[in-house]
Amino acid sequence: MAYNSKGGLPFESASKLGHLYLMNSEWINSLVKDFEAHYASPSSTVISNWIEFNGNPHNSIDQIWVVDGSYVPVQSDAMPPKEVAFVKTAILNISETSLKSIDKYNPHPMDLQKVMKDSALFHSTVLPLRNIKSSRGTNFETVRNIIFESIKVDEKGEYFETLKWLSYQKWLDTPTNSPFFNCPYCEMELEFTVNSDEMHCINSTCNKELYLTDMIGFHLDMTEEKATDGIASAYMTIMEHLMLFTIIRLYWNRGDKTQFNKTLFIKDGPLSLNSQYVKLVPRIRDFLQFAKEKGVLINIIGQEKTGKFVDHLSTIARYVKPLDRNEKLHYHVLTHAYVESEVQDKPSTINYGKRSNWGEKVFVKVDPVTQLVINVPTGDYLDSKNAPLPNELINLEAILNILPNLVSRRFSGGLYPIELANGIASLSSYPSAKILQQLLNE
Ligand SMILES: [Zn+2]
Repeated sequence: MAYNSKGGLPFESASKLGHLYLMNSEWINSLVKDFEAHYASPSSTVISNWIEFNGNPHNSIDQIWVVDGSYVPVQSDAMPPKEVAFVKTAILNISETSLKSIDKYNPHPMDLQKVMKDSALFHSTVLPLRNIKSSRGTNFETVRNIIFESIKVDEKGEYFETLKWLSYQKWLDTPTNSPFFNCPYCEMELEFTVNSDEMHCINSTCNKELYLTDMIGFHLDMTEEKATDGIASAYMTIMEHLMLFTIIRLYWNRGDKTQFNKTLFIKDGPLSLNSQYVKLVPRIRDFLQFAKEKGVLINIIGQEKTGKFVDHLSTIARYVKPLDRNEKLHYHVLTHAYVESEVQDKPSTINYGKRSNWGEKVFVKVDPVTQLVINVPTGDYLDSKNAPLPNELINLEAILNILPNLVSRRFSGGLYPIELANGIASLSSYPSAKILQQLLNE
């Protein structure tokens, strides 16, 4: 997803309310006053938790892998309109030295090409959403089969192997069965036996052929006849995870694991999966914990560019250090209690992020004008209100040390590797939506 180029803070236009006669109401007057006052002075707890970071002049990280994706729903002009969604994801390898050689204000296209040459992997597919007739089956069956085949065939099955690796915990000496899931047809609770690609539903009256990709839960985002573009968004997020963990798996399977010390993995967006897709979250946490216990620290961050955390940071950043160029980078690792009291707008019965997140939230202020929201994993979820502590985040120091070198000068709070990945994963850069639409009309 692209960086938001809009500057400024939300509610800056609040004073325009002054033109309305409603301002005669005392209630509204006090409301407006309070909320302006709130911005003038955030409570001390909000700004007192920031820590000064003493960087190390030597960076251990010199390789970066960054993953990003995009999708676009396209409708034909026919009646009823046919609708499909195109999905594209990419993972890009960049060396830190090659990034240094690029002008971060006005990058030269040839320099960019050099950085990206032979170092990106792409994946794409098309999912029917509605009014596409297939002689082979319903829309529901078509989508299930396209998802299975797209993941299974690409890169000679490496992404599919990663799905198996996560599902069956293949880093263990004794891998396990898959997470439980419900049959897309009869809803019976099932699991795949270790290492299998397909199975038949064990409910004898159903007995449908099922794929490992069904375990992920895409079928819950569609009916027999149609799917929403939510399925394209979910497919994109799952593929971003599979591409990222394909590189991690291939590194892991090498004898020498020291490569992990020198590598930073970056995902555009939060380190989380939502609703039915959370099934892979405990698997990812278990692997990172397993690696941590073996002394292998895997440097991973996600960057959030929109949403509640970005909004919250934008209201407080101007009150925290660094306020001038001579001051050092400052950061704040958010505890679950902080998220619940300061960021979330609804109370929660479980600790924040327990079901869906595999990274914790960190605010970073790099210099007086650059602030960002990143996610960093801990391995196992730390199930307490006052967790996590900064030293519980995997290799936070090495990450904070490299971060200033990755900051973009084109978008406030942008990371240069993500900008590059946006460029190659964006669907606007390859067949335009108009051409896609014409294909649909044929
Ligand atoms: Zn069944």
